Amino acid sequence: MENCLFCRIAAGEIPSSKVYEDDRVLAFRDIDPQAPVHVLLIPKQHYANILEADGDTVAYMQQIIRKIAEELGIAESGFRVVINTGEDGQQTVKHLHMHILGGRSMQWPPG
Ligand code: 5GP
Ligand code: ZN
Repeated sequence: MENCLFCRIAAGEIPSSKVYEDDRVLAFRDIDPQAPVHVLLIPKQHYANILEADGDTVAYMQQIIRKIAEELGIAESGFRVVINTGEDGQQTVKHLHMHILGGRSMQWPPG
C-alpha cells in the first residue's frame, strides 16, 4: 500500500534492522526500543489492524513469535506481545504489527 511506512519497510524501500524474514512476514527492531529486546513483527500483506487480518495470518505470526523468542533468547524468561489497535489503543502506524518486548521485567512500577 502506497505511503504505508511498514509496507515500505516490508518492500525494502526503507531500511530496517531485520531479525527474521520469510515470504509472509518480516520482523525488525523498533527504532525507539522500550526494552532490551523490542521487535516489530508485521505481515508483508497490508492489514490496517488486527481486526482486518485473517486468522490464518495471525496464527502464522504466533508461530513466528515462538521462533523469534527462541532465537533472541527470551522464550524462557518471558516477554510481552502488544498489538495496539485504533485510536484509544494508540496505534500510530496503520499496518498490523505485533510488538515483542523482552529482556527485562515488565513490572510497573519497576522494582
Ligand atoms: P504503534 O504505536 O503504532 O503500536 O507502534 C509503532 C512503532 O513503530 C513504534 O514503537 C515506533 O517506535 C516504531 N517505528 C516508527 N517508525 C519506525 C521506523 O521507521 N522504523 C522502525 N524500525 N520502527 C519505527
Ligand atoms: Zn502497510
